[in-house]
Amino acid sequence: MGGIDKLTEQIVKRFRDSGFDVDAKEISKRLNLLIYEFKVPESEAVRTVTNYLMKELDIDREQLAAESPLVRIADVTTPGKWVSLKAKVIQLWDATSPNISQVGLIGDETGIIKFVTWAKAEKEEVKEGKSYLFKNVVTDSFGGRMQVNVNRNSQIVEIEEDVQLPPRELEVVGALIAIQQNSGLIRRCKLCNRTMTKDICPLHGKTEGYDDLRIKGIIDDGKNFYEVILNEDNIRELTGIGLKEARKIAEEKLERSAVLAELKNRLLGRYFRVAGMRGERYLIVREVEFLKQDIRQIAGELL
Ligand SMILES: [Zn+2]
Repeated sequence: MGGIDKLTEQIVKRFRDSGFDVDAKEISKRLNLLIYEFKVPESEAVRTVTNYLMKELDIDREQLAAESPLVRIADVTTPGKWVSLKAKVIQLWDATSPNISQVGLIGDETGIIKFVTWAKAEKEEVKEGKSYLFKNVVTDSFGGRMQVNVNRNSQIVEIEEDVQLPPRELEVVGALIAIQQNSGLIRRCKLCNRTMTKDICPLHGKTEGYDDLRIKGIIDDGKNFYEVILNEDNIRELTGIGLKEARKIAEEKLERSAVLAELKNRLLGRYFRVAGMRGERYLIVREVEFLKQDIRQIAGELL
């Protein structure tokens, strides 16, 4: 009978996860009948009972959470599969469309993958650095790369476990050859942290924002280009310009873009040692420093 209990629990859970209450006793009775009386194989019995319940509740398969196996990110290789993942949020990007509520990178020990949460899914937002169970997400392929999509049948549950990331530590020594326009003293939406353009959030429209400092740039090590994002801490460490100083520059010059000009002036073309993790799109910077000392050392050795 243990088998019946397990199967019953599995069915109850699937319906409960989809927001429907079902009668465990009734399910157990039907499974018993099918399996022991009619000698129907277990999987077939589960399917039959599930179909019966869907008919009773007048719901279609779309409304029922898919049964998705817990997989590792490295195993996500084909689009169109329902899976569950335990992963840590590595980085959140700016959503490029109002249809997207969140987009970024998640990772586990085996890999890193892009995730997209559709606005329609109406999920609570995840936070960088936290680990979650991404339940019933759909694998997809976009621009030749795999990603997972969070839709309204998915669930995101924060977990205690601190999911470890793959050892993709990387050290790059190279020149900062470009800084993108949407860098410097930027404004973020108070509701969703997205970058705003002229006080307009791509998702929330005209709303309250707050200042932030960041640089999106390209480092060239002579072999590869690396897209890097420097946050306020990185920028302050390198230039002494933090948020406070940046605001001051903007006030003095009566223009926020003066901050970007100043940062370009100080950083563009300089050589850096950057340590971080290779994400799918960006090098996620943990440490960054000027290469000045090394050059002095080299120069010293030469002299
Ligand atoms: Zn917003």
